[in-house]
Amino acid sequence: MNAEQFYPLFLESGKVTIDSRKIEQGDIFFAFSGENFNAAELAEKAVDDGAIAVIVEQQQFENRQRNIYYVPSTLEFLQALAVYHRQQLKIPVIGLTGSNGKTTTKELIHAVLSQKFNVQYTSGNLNNHIGVPLTLLSIKPEHEMAVIEMGANHQKEIEFLCSIAQPDFGYITNFGKAHLEGFGGFEGVIKGKSELYDYLKSHNKAILVNESDAIQKEKTAGYAHRITFGTEDSDYVFGLLTEEQFVGLSYQGVHAISKLTGVYNFTNLCAAAALGLHFGIAFETIKGAVESYTPTNMRSQIVKKPGKTLVLDTYNANPSSMAASLQNFITFEGSKTIIIGDMLELGEESGQEHRSILDLARQLGFDQIITVGKNFRSVNHDAAAFESTAELMEYLAEHPVQSDNVLLKASRGIALEKAADLI
Ligand code: ATP
Ligand code: MG
Repeated sequence: MNAEQFYPLFLESGKVTIDSRKIEQGDIFFAFSGENFNAAELAEKAVDDGAIAVIVEQQQFENRQRNIYYVPSTLEFLQALAVYHRQQLKIPVIGLTGSNGKTTTKELIHAVLSQKFNVQYTSGNLNNHIGVPLTLLSIKPEHEMAVIEMGANHQKEIEFLCSIAQPDFGYITNFGKAHLEGFGGFEGVIKGKSELYDYLKSHNKAILVNESDAIQKEKTAGYAHRITFGTEDSDYVFGLLTEEQFVGLSYQGVHAISKLTGVYNFTNLCAAAALGLHFGIAFETIKGAVESYTPTNMRSQIVKKPGKTLVLDTYNANPSSMAASLQNFITFEGSKTIIIGDMLELGEESGQEHRSILDLARQLGFDQIITVGKNFRSVNHDAAAFESTAELMEYLAEHPVQSDNVLLKASRGIALEKAADLI
C-alpha cells in the first residue's frame, strides 16, 4: 500500500495521531514501534477505541478486515502521506527555521496572518521529522495558509523537511550558536540552516530576508524573489520601539507595542509584520495582532509578581539567546538578579561558552548572579552555583531573591521554570 492508495481513508478521517492514549473516534493511528508495548494488542485496541485505520510496521499484525495496515516503516509512511497531502494543497506554505526565535516568530506570523486568513500552523514545538508531517496532515480544506516551523540539529535535516513541507515562502530567524555539536560549529549552522534557501532558490520561491543580518543578506544577494526588511532600503522599513520592558515596532508613523520582552523580538515582530504587509494586511490591523499576542510559553515571558518583575525564558537557551537575553535584561529599571542554567548540547565548545556567558554577566554588572547546572558550576567558583534546579529551590526557600527584577533562563533539560513559584 502506498500513500496515494491510502489517501482517501485519510481524507475521510482527517485526523492523525501517533499517541495511542489520545485516539478519538475517526482517527488514523500510526503505531510507532517501541520496546515497551505489544504492537498487536495496541493496534487492535486502537480500532476498538475508534480509529478508522491503523498503520503498523510488523507484517504479522496486519488485519485488513479491521483496517490495520502493514507498511515497512511507520515513519516513512507518515512522511509520504504528508508529502502527498502537501502536493494536493493549493495554499501558500511558509517555512521557518533558524537557531533562535522560530516558535516565537511562528506564533507572531500566525497572529498577524490570521487577521485576514484562516491559518494552520505548527502546534507548540512540533518541528522535526515527525512534527512537520503531523502539522502538514493537520491542514484542512478550510485553511488558506500554513506556517511550518522546521527545527534541525544536524546537516541535511532542513533539506529533508523542505522536501516534505515544500514551502512557497521561507524565513531563517537567525544564525546562532545553537546545536553546535550536531552541526559541526558555527559554519556548520550557517550551512545547515541555509538548506532552506537552497530549496527556495531552486524552486523559485520567495525568501523573507532580514537585511540587517549580514549572513542573510549575503546568502540571498542577487536572488530576485525576496521580501526584505531590516534596513532603510528594504521593502518594509520598521522602527524599533521599547516601552518599559516591552518591545514594539513602528511603520509609517503607526506604533505597535508587543507583550514580548527582548530587543531580539523586534526582528521576530518585523518578520511577521513584513509578511502581513506582503499579504495585504494593513499595518493598523497588524498592530492589533501584535498588541494582543500574549506569550504563555516560557519564551520571553514577563510575569508580574507583587513588587517584582520576573522574566521567564526557560524554554531553551544557547549562547546567542543567552547573551541576547542578558543584554536585554540589564536595561530593566531597578535591581536585577539573574538565575541562569546550563546551555546543553554545545559539544567541545561548552566550557568556553559557559565561561564567556559568565564573563558577560559579570561585565554587565547584575546585582546577583546565580547559576544552575554542572557546566556553569565547573566555571563558576562562587557560592551561588547550584548543581540542579532542585538544589536551587532548596536555597531559594531559605533565601528569597530580593531584587526588583529576576531573569530565569536555561536549556529545557534544566527545567528552571520549576523555581518560578519561589521567586
Ligand atoms: P527551538 O529550537 O526550541 O524550537 P525556537 O527557535 O523555536 O527554539 P523560541 O522558542 O521562539 O525559539 O525562542 C527561544 C528563545 O530564544 C527566546 O526565549 C529568546 O530568549 C531567544 N530568541 C528569540 N528570538 C530570537 C532572535 N531573533 N534572536 C536571538 N534570540 C532569540
Ligand atoms: Mg521552537
